Amino acid sequence: MATTTKTWKLFIGGAWVESSTGETEPDINPATGEPVAEVAVATREDADRAVEAAQKAYDEVWFDTPPKERSAMMLKLADAMEADAENLAVLESEDVGKPIAVSRADIPFIIDNLRFFAGAARVQEGKSAGEYERGYTSIIRREPLGVTAGICPWNYPLMMAIWKIGPALAAGNTSIIKPAEITPRTALRLAELSQDILPPGVINVVTGKGSVVGDQLTRHPLVRLVSVTGDTSTGKVIAAACAETVKRAHLELGGKAPVVVFDDADVGKLVETLRFAGYTNSGQDCTASCRVIAGPRIYDDLLSELVPAVESIKVGDLMDESVEMGPLVSDRQRDSVKGFVDRAQGYGAKVLTGGDVIERPGFYYKPTVVTDVDQKSEIVQQEVFGPVVTVQRFTDEDEAVRWANDVVYGLASSVWTKDTGRAMRVARRLQFGAVWVNTHFMITAEMPHGGYKQSGYGKDMSMYSLEDYTQIKHVMVSLD
Ligand code: NAD
Repeated sequence: MATTTKTWKLFIGGAWVESSTGETEPDINPATGEPVAEVAVATREDADRAVEAAQKAYDEVWFDTPPKERSAMMLKLADAMEADAENLAVLESEDVGKPIAVSRADIPFIIDNLRFFAGAARVQEGKSAGEYERGYTSIIRREPLGVTAGICPWNYPLMMAIWKIGPALAAGNTSIIKPAEITPRTALRLAELSQDILPPGVINVVTGKGSVVGDQLTRHPLVRLVSVTGDTSTGKVIAAACAETVKRAHLELGGKAPVVVFDDADVGKLVETLRFAGYTNSGQDCTASCRVIAGPRIYDDLLSELVPAVESIKVGDLMDESVEMGPLVSDRQRDSVKGFVDRAQGYGAKVLTGGDVIERPGFYYKPTVVTDVDQKSEIVQQEVFGPVVTVQRFTDEDEAVRWANDVVYGLASSVWTKDTGRAMRVARRLQFGAVWVNTHFMITAEMPHGGYKQSGYGKDMSMYSLEDYTQIKHVMVSLD
């Protein structure tokens, strides 16, 4: 287990510094409710210091560092993460409440993302150079923005930090990371690992409250992009604040992924996928397969296989390697999940399994399946962000697509059928940034991840993310 005594400071300009008030807060392990560390609570002045350090690094070092050198440093950081993988996995488990097997499985993917961006740093291009007016040559330059801020959520703290640092550094920007209040340590450990690899100020990590540090970064005129992964309500506040200084906002917000299951779907494969994609990380995933919309004839078979499969999920201690699901991230989150399920039952929903907290230390809730829910009910419309999957029965394809699209979110979705034409037809009609066919949850560094509608705009991963982290300049040269 990680140390319980360490006090983490802020990482600004390559140095570890206390917050301007010296204030710290305990970091709680959600599996026990006990503190595992103390973490600095940054102030607005600390956020300003981080911006100054990031701007200085950009002006004095990073702006003139060629892509191949940036790339080499990023690869070195990826190697350092690999060497530290077990430590990172333990920190992530203790902060988020992920079983150790789940945290360990995430790390290679996170490192691969950083390596992808290290490669991407070397292959950026402007679209054209040529003569579009007689006597003039036009050149397109793709340029960095300067200082970027990455505001992270608590469900994938390390992955989200890399999804923000990766494109920022690849494009030639400097980065300030603001981890979620309750899951700060993997970003801080990443800063430690970067200390001997990156020039001071290229990465900075400031821990503290969103309404204070996050808000200050969002309003600071020298910050040219704010990338936030978080709740849709947070995204709206940040987008509005960004407007004041006309800075870019990159918004990866909530989700409510539909799983559209036609009568010819492979039930065995579907149930195996739902058992994982609906419940891993205790369902606290913006692409979780939380909303099953099943055909009239497959509905009963699906439920008779899904319920025992969900009941077989092993819930328990984080460091037990066979455990598949841990607690919710906080008591607040557990109570919120419980509230959704309790209210749904009050409106007539049926809980086929789960539906209650687990009586043990920590913030555990049972893996849950809920049926008989109305399309307009809050448990169908809003993000529950817990180990809860609802199952609805549709009558025909049009109704399935209508229900799937009938939420404010548009992040991820899946369609299950053996009929290729139907899969293509439905994939086209689904208003989501990702549609999986006969699978769910699959992401890869080369492919974009991002929302439609109120799930936000801007893409993570892939070369598409670099569009947000760069700006285009036209240079026109007279040939006289
Ligand atoms: P949250 O919105 O509460 O917080 C996200 C971050 O924003 C935190 O670091 C918080 O401190 C900060 N913040 C809050 N108010 C702010 C303000 N006024 N100004 C600046 N920063 C502010 O989200 P959360 O509860 O940490 O994470 C869960 C949410 O994240 C869910 O809604 C989930 O769907 C979403 N999420 C989305 C994706 C995606 O890729 N779309 C991925 C993971 C999580």
